[in-house]
Amino acid sequence: MAGYVTGMDFARDDETYMRTALRLAQSAAEAGEVPVGAVAVGTDGRIIARAWNQVELLKDGTAHAEMIALTQAAAAVGDWRLTAVTLYVTKEPCPMCAGAMVNCRLGRVVFGCADPRGGAAGGAMNLLDCPGLLHRVNVTRGVCADDCLALLQSFFRGRRQAAANRPLPDVHGWPENWSMN
Ligand SMILES: [Zn+2]
Repeated sequence: MAGYVTGMDFARDDETYMRTALRLAQSAAEAGEVPVGAVAVGTDGRIIARAWNQVELLKDGTAHAEMIALTQAAAAVGDWRLTAVTLYVTKEPCPMCAGAMVNCRLGRVVFGCADPRGGAAGGAMNLLDCPGLLHRVNVTRGVCADDCLALLQSFFRGRRQAAANRPLPDVHGWPENWSMN
């Protein structure tokens, strides 16, 4: 049947989009940013937003990959309501980004590795399925999780080594061991 999408196709597409998000996360790492990448996809399967974490570049603590991608997606859709949009992000969203996803009425989020310390999609808390909020976001977790995690771990390992050689004042808040459990 034309246009029929099986569960298997759906999963394969998730992995393909997550690989694109991973390449964006790699760009973040190369720019000295915490390596998180995101892409937003419309119902026709077209990518409508591509972003990576730019907190250092923009000197803006809200410039997470997801926030930038949500803004780009709203511009592409021409509406703040993103009910027909899927956002792929390499790491479980933080409370700020999860809150933004609820406010944008995001249809679905797919993330890579979990963040049991600060994740707001079921890791440390779950803002995406919170009875008091007006919208619930469908969540798929663990897509390309090992690769997403490895990128973060290698980034923080490099930062710790650099800090050991030349102490940096803001290194203390970085996670010692970024792990999935
Ligand atoms: Zn965030």
